[in-house]
Amino acid sequence: MANRRDKQFRQIKRSHTLAWLIMFIVIILFLGMLTGVFISVFSTAIVSDKFKSGRSEALSMARVYETCIREGADPGEYMKTFGMDYIITDSEHNVIASGGENTCSFESAELENRIGLLLRMYIVTGGVNAYPDTSVPVFFSVDNDEDNGGEIVINIVTIIANSDKFITGHRSIEELDMNGELSYDTGMASIPIWLGVNMSDGREFIAKAYITVDIGDVGIILMLMASISVFLLVIFTMIIVNFISGIVRHGRTLKVFFTDAVTQGKNAMYFLYKGDELIKKLLNHSTSYAVVDLNFVGYRNFCVCHSVAEGERILGRINAGLEARMTKKKEICTRFGEADFALLLRADGAQTVASRVRELIDAVANVDPDHTFTFHAGVAMIHPDGTPGMDGELIRRRNTDIGEAYNNACTARETLMDTDGSGVAFFNDTLVADRKWVDAVQERQRSAVDNEEFVVYYQPKYDPRTDELLGAEALIRWQSPDLGFVPPGRMIPIFEKNGFITEIDHYMIKHVARDQKRWLDAGCRCVPVSVNVSRSHFIESDLAEQIRDTVDAEGCPHEYIEIELTESAFFDDKKAMINTIGKLKSYGFAVSMDDFGSGYSSLNSLKDMPLDVLKLDAEFFRGENGGGRGEIVVSEAIKLAKSLNMRTVAEGVEIREQVDFLASQGCDMIQGYFYAKPMPGSDYESRMKERYKPKGE
Ligand code: C2E
Ligand code: CA
Ligand code: CA
Repeated sequence: MANRRDKQFRQIKRSHTLAWLIMFIVIILFLGMLTGVFISVFSTAIVSDKFKSGRSEALSMARVYETCIREGADPGEYMKTFGMDYIITDSEHNVIASGGENTCSFESAELENRIGLLLRMYIVTGGVNAYPDTSVPVFFSVDNDEDNGGEIVINIVTIIANSDKFITGHRSIEELDMNGELSYDTGMASIPIWLGVNMSDGREFIAKAYITVDIGDVGIILMLMASISVFLLVIFTMIIVNFISGIVRHGRTLKVFFTDAVTQGKNAMYFLYKGDELIKKLLNHSTSYAVVDLNFVGYRNFCVCHSVAEGERILGRINAGLEARMTKKKEICTRFGEADFALLLRADGAQTVASRVRELIDAVANVDPDHTFTFHAGVAMIHPDGTPGMDGELIRRRNTDIGEAYNNACTARETLMDTDGSGVAFFNDTLVADRKWVDAVQERQRSAVDNEEFVVYYQPKYDPRTDELLGAEALIRWQSPDLGFVPPGRMIPIFEKNGFITEIDHYMIKHVARDQKRWLDAGCRCVPVSVNVSRSHFIESDLAEQIRDTVDAEGCPHEYIEIELTESAFFDDKKAMINTIGKLKSYGFAVSMDDFGSGYSSLNSLKDMPLDVLKLDAEFFRGENGGGRGEIVVSEAIKLAKSLNMRTVAEGVEIREQVDFLASQGCDMIQGYFYAKPMPGSDYESRMKERYKPKGE
């Protein structure tokens, strides 16, 4: 889950950076390539056109030269007539004849590279060799000099004769004119270049030709450059506008994504996204954090009484109240779910966090003048040097999952579920151990019943006057192959919470009935055994029938089974309870009230319930008994039971003085360590055979 969430958040982050950057680079590269191809094609066409006349001149002069040689005439004279500078070379570029001024460079391959694209392309396409004239500029471009009021400037690359150096510079058209380095043709420049034509015998005829640049060429180049610039500018602007509007759109989407529809504050996604960022920020590496789950207790009830709209209005106020008390940009407050608020607070130890959370609760408890609200808060601490995880290992801070931390806070908060009033609970190792234990028990409960891992222990009840065995209580134990010996206090509350207790009750009734039947068949003098039946079981209207059928299935007479109801059971549906008790009695089962005196309405319950036995709570006989006041209460309780025609059992009696006192007050039975602890069935069987308390105990 956390992995999927991280992936989602990574996508949010990536979408406005990497994707845009890649797209931007691709578009720029594509445009660059397109412009390059366009310029080279266009330039080649211009240069090719410029070279054309020089090329045809060189060809015709070569033809003249060859004709002269063939006819035996002096070619030099003819060349002079045409005013031509020329060179004849052999295949090794050795000059074998020349006329006029030789300013040609034969390092063609090298120079060709340096001169660049324009010349090279011509050479490839034009079918003539080109050699730069080393005494004049060989390469140029035309530019608008902005600094000089838009004057047209010619940038020149000059190759120095007999060296591989270039000089770059620029001249205005007038300068060039004055220096005479270039001759002017139709108002602009004429650049000399040596063009070679291969002759039939392997020699090469190289003549000096001129490439003319006129005002039209400059205009075309300027227009070309201007339109390319405009084109690039438009594309670039479009990309930038798209990019910026993308970021704005992304921001808006994120805002909706992170906004809680109910409170208009931030939502759970924001908490997980921003919280994760905050706790992992390097800058915060020495800060402790507290992840808090703050639950508005009774929100659903509030909605039922006042409407959902009113409830949501209150949630909005609570959120605003909490948000106003957060340190900006360093702490977070969001509504995480229904009536739960997730907070990320900076923390200086658990004590400070506890009082801060209490302050927050106090601040929002009265957001509505007509009500005082209750809040339960759970806190999970995140320490800078790591926090112990569920498996006890230290989770490094950078590996902390904020979702896990929030879940821990919720787990801590759940421990307050049964408490009234606001409160704060911390997630700690004990809580982890408790949760794991609950999990382990629940995982095994079903197979434990199927494999009969639960064992019945019996605790005898004796007559305090005669020490005669009069009854016993069946108490459960769990011999688990992997959890070991489990006492009831470690499992019964779990079963009561998850409802499995009803299975346990039937299991116990069945096994006690089975034992009693076996002992009766073996000729033992059996006494009634009481079995605990949990309060939640009384929801079932046919409970009495179920118990009867279970006991009958084992063939045990009903008078050997007694049903013990814990006092808390009497708080439920009274009518149903009286009905079930009546049915149980009519089937011949005795019914007892367990732990009498441990609650508040015991007397009230006695008024309505037709019970057989009253079990005085062990608390009466524990520690100081109030200097005789306790004895008065016990004595009066016994009298009360007698007047209601009930027998009494005193639980948890450990010392002789208590036994003697209870005997003097007419208590019918004692179930306590003084006589015997709960014991396995085999030991209890021996006790039955002895009938009276064994000597020496
Ligand atoms: P309870 O029904 O009140 O059972 C009496 C408890 O008091 C037993 O604890 C017993 O061992 C203990 N006790 C008896 N005499 C003395 C004494 O002199 N001193 C002291 N210190 N303790 C004494 P146990 O067996 O641990 O059971 C605890 C509770 O677990 C029971 O309280 C009962 O509420 C529940 N429980 C046990 N077995 C079952 C069962 O089969 N079904 C249900 N629903 N609950 C059960
Ligand atoms: Ca009991
Ligand atoms: Ca009891």
